[in-house]
Amino acid sequence: MKINNNIAKKLKKDFPIFKNSPGLVYLDNAATSQRPKQVIKAVIGFYEKENANPGRGIHTLAEKAMIRYNEARKIVSNFVGADSKEIVFTRNATESLNLLSYTLLSIIPKGKNEILLTEMEHHSNLVPWQQMAKRSGMVLKFVKIKEDFTLDLEDAKRKITEKTAVFAFTAVSNVLGTINPMKELTKIAKQKGALVIIDGAQAVSHIKVNVKDIGCDFFAFSSHKMLGPGGIGVLYGRKELLEKMRPFNFGGGMISKVTKENSEWAEVPHKFEAGTQHIADAVGLAEAIKYLEKIDMKNVSEWEKKLTEYAYSKLSTIEGVKIYSFKNSSSIVSFTLEGVHGHDIAELLNRDKIAIRAGHQCAMPLMNVLGVKGGVCRISFSFYNTFEDVDKLIKSLKKVKEKFKKR
Ligand code: PMP
Repeated sequence: MKINNNIAKKLKKDFPIFKNSPGLVYLDNAATSQRPKQVIKAVIGFYEKENANPGRGIHTLAEKAMIRYNEARKIVSNFVGADSKEIVFTRNATESLNLLSYTLLSIIPKGKNEILLTEMEHHSNLVPWQQMAKRSGMVLKFVKIKEDFTLDLEDAKRKITEKTAVFAFTAVSNVLGTINPMKELTKIAKQKGALVIIDGAQAVSHIKVNVKDIGCDFFAFSSHKMLGPGGIGVLYGRKELLEKMRPFNFGGGMISKVTKENSEWAEVPHKFEAGTQHIADAVGLAEAIKYLEKIDMKNVSEWEKKLTEYAYSKLSTIEGVKIYSFKNSSSIVSFTLEGVHGHDIAELLNRDKIAIRAGHQCAMPLMNVLGVKGGVCRISFSFYNTFEDVDKLIKSLKKVKEKFKKR
């Protein structure tokens, strides 16, 4: 379904939050997306009709719950072009990345002692690696960004060496909106034998992703940013690597045999899923994917690109606004307004029912690179946003500017 402004308005009707908060202009989708009624219904439906602990019983309901959980894994794996054994359910993208930072040492060859990140990473794809470096004595390095807010590929080529154990980078920056060339970066890193980890938290609900086509080793994302329930995330990992890695959490569900002294692990992906999992949330995530696939990710990307370009050009006309986003970014525009703190902007916009995010955007090192002390304001789109949403933002922002001019 190709999306235009009218279709976007129709799609918005699927999201009960807009009916329950009349006049809401939601431009904080990068923090979390809203949920359509189909997803909410699927979660409630599971609890009302199918709830049981899968794999912990052979009664009918437990079997039903197991079928639904397996189905959900299959739907997630198809969505990103993986095999279902390569999909590990976690709590969120952050946990997926933490899992790697605690387990990868078991498969990193001797002699490789560098972890390479980029300057545009979210704390979730920085702090776990920083801590792994501290624990292991590995060296942390960063690929620079350029003035147009894209990644410096020449710097990446220089910094990816035989010593690089891990190259972890974001698919899409949560501040700059830059879409990084995942396939190209992966190819460069693979030539040097590095493990490639992609933080896909801001990618999967905006652009079509196929992990096999990209060729990466791991890919992490969160359900709550892609219309699904909160509290469930995904880690894609190449099967042969998941099989070699040591487990992350230990307990029930992840073992094949236990004695008083020793344990053996279950097959992947169960080896990484200790304890009772988020079954209803997995069912909800599967429903979210069905919803996105019905629209088609290509159409989602095209419409969000139009909205982003529109917002970029409108914001550019306001004197004092400085934009910190790549021109062809994915659904995100960050900016500052001269003389007004971001929190004041967000607060005043909120009075007009416009939700944006202001602050360091969980990317403090990037804020330093950009030279913005008080952080930036970020607007972020989903396919249900419209041109009118942008117009309301611009009108309200002009009011903010006037208010501060009078002071
Ligand atoms: N990476 C990026 C690029 C993000 O934008 C976010 C969320 N803001 C995360 C990782 C972490 O996602 P979560 O909080 O769902 O774990």
